[in-house]
Amino acid sequence: MVVNLSEQYTLLSDWISEIRDEEVQKDRMRFRRNLERIGEVAAYEISKTLPFVEKEVQTPLGTANCKALKEQPVITTILRAGLPLHQGLLNFFDKADNGFISAYRKHQRDGSFEISLDYVSCPELEGRVVIVSDPMLATGASLVKTIQYLREEGHPSEIHVVVAIACTVGIEFVLRSEPQCKIWCGAIDDELTAKGYIVPGLGDAGDLAYGNKVQM
Ligand code: URA
Repeated sequence: MVVNLSEQYTLLSDWISEIRDEEVQKDRMRFRRNLERIGEVAAYEISKTLPFVEKEVQTPLGTANCKALKEQPVITTILRAGLPLHQGLLNFFDKADNGFISAYRKHQRDGSFEISLDYVSCPELEGRVVIVSDPMLATGASLVKTIQYLREEGHPSEIHVVVAIACTVGIEFVLRSEPQCKIWCGAIDDELTAKGYIVPGLGDAGDLAYGNKVQM
């Protein structure tokens, strides 16, 4: 399942246009905050698909019949670019457990790259709803490697993927490898360069949020 969150025109479309805009991108704080807001909207949309239970709440004036989220999800992200989107998800799923994974492109001299998974810190995943965030779904290679790792670590009941911008080949790749996962995208672009950048995309999300890195 793929949900394109900008299919309907909402405030989110405005934030997507800002994170793409090379002038607005000069304001790193705004870039990070917009990713965070996209994470917040995705959390709200995902919550509509999760189970709720009845709950009686004592107010100062009586008893209210309320609904409460049955179980908190586990939210995980790919360092470092995923951090602002992760914070947005955590702002709304504010009691969630958190996992962090370092997956990066290890570039070869010929321009090709493989995905290296390094640092991993994850809570118990068995039978739980897991949400993985990464701002850019480009080739899909790091997301698939991350999801495979999470599936081996525990057996999540559901896996949701939250991305700000996805490209169509990346979505297809993830769904071929992980047909059960649900992908929530801020926007979808058609083109991917040979170096694995989305076009028009927005550039390097990690660099825009945190500053340029040195290529290892
Ligand atoms: N990662 C990015 O930051 N940008 C892209 O376009 C693709 C992957």
